Amino acid sequence: PSDDRIARIGSAIRVIRDFPKPGIMFQDITTLLLDPQAFKDTIDLFVERYKDKEISVVAGIEARGFIFGPPIALAIGAKFVPMRKPNKLPGEVISEEYSLEYGTDKMEMHVGAVQAGERALVIDDLIATGGTLCAAIKLLERVGVDVVECACVIELLELKVMFQSQISIFVLGAGPA
Ligand code: AMP
Repeated sequence: PSDDRIARIGSAIRVIRDFPKPGIMFQDITTLLLDPQAFKDTIDLFVERYKDKEISVVAGIEARGFIFGPPIALAIGAKFVPMRKPNKLPGEVISEEYSLEYGTDKMEMHVGAVQAGERALVIDDLIATGGTLCAAIKLLERVGVDVVECACVIELLELKVMFQSQISIFVLGAGPA
């Protein structure tokens, strides 16, 4: 979207080359968190989009979805549900395996955190291939939740999004092409 706030948000994100391994342009949102105005603008832009959408669940993906998700959830009056890496949640979980560039990973959610028929927003910092968001959508849909949209701060344009879902993705701004 075009908004004066987007440029400031974009310039507050630091790019670190070759982290965590050679060839990766790591999008570091910790510098965005150091700029209170840019951080607030980021949250506000999401809140403006989702406040009147009758969303009762904000599902945040570990770890950086845990930074952006809770302030959005509080502002729109929704609950926050963490989507975690395996063996972190203490209660009964349902899990979904998904593919990474090399190998697979697993995402877990507490059983009972959400109810069938609830409307959810999924939030993460960045979409690359879309595999992570896809796993979150599948977990929520398996328990009968209606996923309204997925939202990210950054989209990696050099990676082809292999998003296998009908759910729309909203991205605040683009990363390096
Ligand atoms: P993907 O499943 O391919 O869409 O990857 C998205 C997930 O990996 C998100 O949780 C991101 O935080 C992380 N990620 C992937 N690539 C990068 C990158 N270049 N910089 C920062 N985080 C990344």
